[in-house]
Amino acid sequence: MRLRNIKGSREVISESPYAFTEDVETKGKWGEIFGNNNPIRIEIGMGKGRFIYTLAQNNPEINYVGIEKYSSVLLRAIQKMEENPLPNLRFIRMDAENITEKFTEGEVDRIYLNFSDPWPKDRHAKRRLPSAEFLKRYDYILKPEGIIEFKTDNRDLFDFAIEQLPIANWVADTVTYDLHADALLMEGNVMTEYEEKFSSVGNPICKYIIHRDR
Ligand code: SAM
Repeated sequence: MRLRNIKGSREVISESPYAFTEDVETKGKWGEIFGNNNPIRIEIGMGKGRFIYTLAQNNPEINYVGIEKYSSVLLRAIQKMEENPLPNLRFIRMDAENITEKFTEGEVDRIYLNFSDPWPKDRHAKRRLPSAEFLKRYDYILKPEGIIEFKTDNRDLFDFAIEQLPIANWVADTVTYDLHADALLMEGNVMTEYEEKFSSVGNPICKYIIHRDR
């Protein structure tokens, strides 16, 4: 009997030309990796990657890096890249806690957080991706005029995210509690998997766009 070699997702990711694992040195090397000096935008907690793949497809003059903690989820994005590769998109499998080890100071132009895990228990607040602890990490990798865009349907997480801004010296340019009802903000909006799921059952989507208070 011929046995099929079914690779595990971790193995596929470590061999993929589209993804980096945590042990690979990328800090300060993104221009070299992409072969140009185009701006770099990242999505942290990209899931299966529909949002970042669509952005990369629509904006070939911008480089995108999707960050995801779990191999099994990231695998879906890699399969999509194998079917239809994009030169301006790469992935890192990692916990975003270590993000400052993967990008050097000011290397990133924009950060997207979409439907981040809520970590509802108070003792886990530091794990929330829009927390002040994470905003400090983003402060290092983001260039001075860089912005962060955050979308969620979780009102508690969004309220927490707004409260965190002054603590970490950030200010909001835009805040909405019902993105899909705002025609101006919806211009060019790219739906994430979770956005489609939650908006289709009637959940309003909150969004902020923030920059540093300087
Ligand atoms: N952004 C996608 C969307 O909107 O459809 C996926 C949202 S899903 C609720 C959150 C994703 O973030 C999960 O795939 C999870 O594994 C990932 N994630 C959560 N915390 C993370 C961290 N610290 N570092 C990297 N990825 C993380």
